[in-house]
Amino acid sequence: MANKDYYSILGVEKNASDDEIKSAYRRLAKKYHPDLNKTEEAANKFKEINEAYEVLGDSQKRANYDQFGTAEGNPFGNGGGGFGDFFGGGAGGGFSDIFSDIFSAFGGRGQSSRVQTKGQDINIAVTLEFEEACFGCEKNITLTKKEKCSSCNGTGAKNGKEFTTCRECNGTGRVRFQQNTLFGTTIRESACPKCSGTGKIIKEKCQDCNGKGDKKASKTLKVKFPAGIDNGQTLRMRGEGNAPAGSGIYGDLNIKVSVKPHKLLVRKENDLYLDLYVPFTTTLLGGKVDIPTLNGNYTLNIPELTASGTLMKLKNKGVKMLNRDSYGDLLVTIKAEVPKSLDKETKAKITELASKIGDNSYTKYNNFLKNMK
Ligand SMILES: [Zn+2]
Ligand SMILES: [Zn+2]
Repeated sequence: MANKDYYSILGVEKNASDDEIKSAYRRLAKKYHPDLNKTEEAANKFKEINEAYEVLGDSQKRANYDQFGTAEGNPFGNGGGGFGDFFGGGAGGGFSDIFSDIFSAFGGRGQSSRVQTKGQDINIAVTLEFEEACFGCEKNITLTKKEKCSSCNGTGAKNGKEFTTCRECNGTGRVRFQQNTLFGTTIRESACPKCSGTGKIIKEKCQDCNGKGDKKASKTLKVKFPAGIDNGQTLRMRGEGNAPAGSGIYGDLNIKVSVKPHKLLVRKENDLYLDLYVPFTTTLLGGKVDIPTLNGNYTLNIPELTASGTLMKLKNKGVKMLNRDSYGDLLVTIKAEVPKSLDKETKAKITELASKIGDNSYTKYNNFLKNMK
């Protein structure tokens, strides 16, 4: 089991500072970069110095390497060591793009094998009327996004044709290489560094997009908000985000929904709540009161002798459940309201009524009095 000496690969001492390691790496990476040096030996050297820097450039991995001879703290863990997919980010292909990708990869991004690139997501917010959310609606939304250039079909090459097959990867966009670790030799695969995983080298740039393969465009989408969508929920439209850099898939469009409140009804999930204040005489004598529902007004029949605080449930008069053919309920709490003031004559009459009804008529009140003794 051969173990590589990463320090000698980068040509630095074992006690080299972080800055010394970084500048040694930069110098060697430029020297052996496949854009400048096309020999197979240089390619292998380039992989080797990247592998070395991935470990020595990371203080935790370097400490593990010094102690265990491997970048992983646990030698049996399936860690993310190795050259992996530093080019997986798939920048447009220029020398500096590839370099900035290498350096950002060292900044701690995930090291999973990912070659197909995805365009950036677009996040927007949309406000819906209360009823629009309950019943669902369609809205035209205009946004500015990166679209694949139509002149070159996203290839960045003139007419979509002026490119040659990448010789480094024979057009597959992938390269394989051997990696020796303390625990044996593994074959790893990654995006081809020469063509950023596209498999193609541009001969002549597309004039419309200057070889980038994408263009900013204003696009209007018809977005369908499903019935029952609620405040704070996000609608994800796959593939409606930005075009990827080079080949790959479009990002997503994420629409965060806020819903305007209703003047009277309060929504909690799929149920609607209404605090219904009525004259206290209505709770005594009963009566009909018009209340709002999602499907217009409804005449609620309040029976006589309804206690304040009584909850009346109107089944299925709530909000439709998302993607289901069922509905919440409308829950009405009856609240007895007393008049703001009473004149002398009315007060005398009510006093008369109170003694006529008598304290014995109130079951709960009497129960309370009994327990207070
Ligand atoms: Zn183009
Ligand atoms: Zn290639």
